[in-house]
Amino acid sequence: MGLGLLVLVAGACGTEGGEGPPLITGDVPGWNTGGEDVEAGVDAGDGGPQADFDALPDGGSADARLPDDGLDCGVGADLCGGQDDASVPEYEPPDGFEIVMLDVGQGDSILVRFPFGSTMLVDGGYGSNAWDVILPYLDNLHLDRLDFVVSSHPDADHCGGLAGVVEELDVGVVWENGQTAETYSWGDFSDAVDEKGIPRKTVHRGDKATIDGCGVEVLNADQGWGWSNADSVVLSIDCEGVTLLLTGDIDYWAQDDIGRAYGDGLKSDVVKVAHHGSADHDPDFTKAVAADIALCSVGKWNNYGHPDPDVVAEWEAVGAAFYRTDTMGTISVLAKDGDMVVQTQW
Ligand SMILES: [Zn+2]
Repeated sequence: MGLGLLVLVAGACGTEGGEGPPLITGDVPGWNTGGEDVEAGVDAGDGGPQADFDALPDGGSADARLPDDGLDCGVGADLCGGQDDASVPEYEPPDGFEIVMLDVGQGDSILVRFPFGSTMLVDGGYGSNAWDVILPYLDNLHLDRLDFVVSSHPDADHCGGLAGVVEELDVGVVWENGQTAETYSWGDFSDAVDEKGIPRKTVHRGDKATIDGCGVEVLNADQGWGWSNADSVVLSIDCEGVTLLLTGDIDYWAQDDIGRAYGDGLKSDVVKVAHHGSADHDPDFTKAVAADIALCSVGKWNNYGHPDPDVVAEWEAVGAAFYRTDTMGTISVLAKDGDMVVQTQW
């Protein structure tokens, strides 16, 4: 793990344009272990995505996932790895709600870690990113199961790496927009899902779900534009007093349409900048979202001019601290009770 830059963003904090986000180095302040014993799990909202989540871990805290009585290390030393403590490393949820924008270069892959153990991966970058970025990151968290895998749209820089992820990990359900593509990237992913018998759910605008007490709503998913980017799945997640907007690769027309549909409801604290910061965007959408933190996944020296300088300027003009993977690496935002801490990691 490389040196992290820590940024404390409390409430509606942002930066002035052009000066970059404020940096505070040191330990993350004030993140004590949570105490609330809220039941973990997933409830489908009215008309929302349905899935069988019986396999979700029970219990509401990290402690609930650890062995209660452990192994008898005095007898079964091999099982215990020679340690006195019998506990095998297991995934522990964050103390709050964490969004991790993985550095997959010119693509998207976002890990969403809910407060009571549920997990969601939105997109997987290109095919090789499964092996060189995503699976190692998840392995480091001792995470071998994803409750939700979301494919925003079938383009290779989003669905490519999901094939390897699906092959290697247990997955609860796949959310997608129902589009297909005649590409190896999409075919490999889709085949992997079906071969493992993973349920797949075609989501629609207005679908709602509750995950670990957090509200999830689908704002866009194949509205009939007929081209891949515009039909990206767009999710709004409300968790720990913070709202997150995940935008896939939506273009000007889709942004304009979502803006008309949701208006002031688009206001968010954290946004994944649409389409890697493409110039094909709607400035009014940026003003409506007016996030404090803008996360942009973009490859170094990419051939597309991403992110467009005007897009960066517009986000900063609405008060957003603009973070980008090409210069900062993997970026995580930990939210708790409305406060946010940003960490970057090479
Ligand atoms: Zn893309």
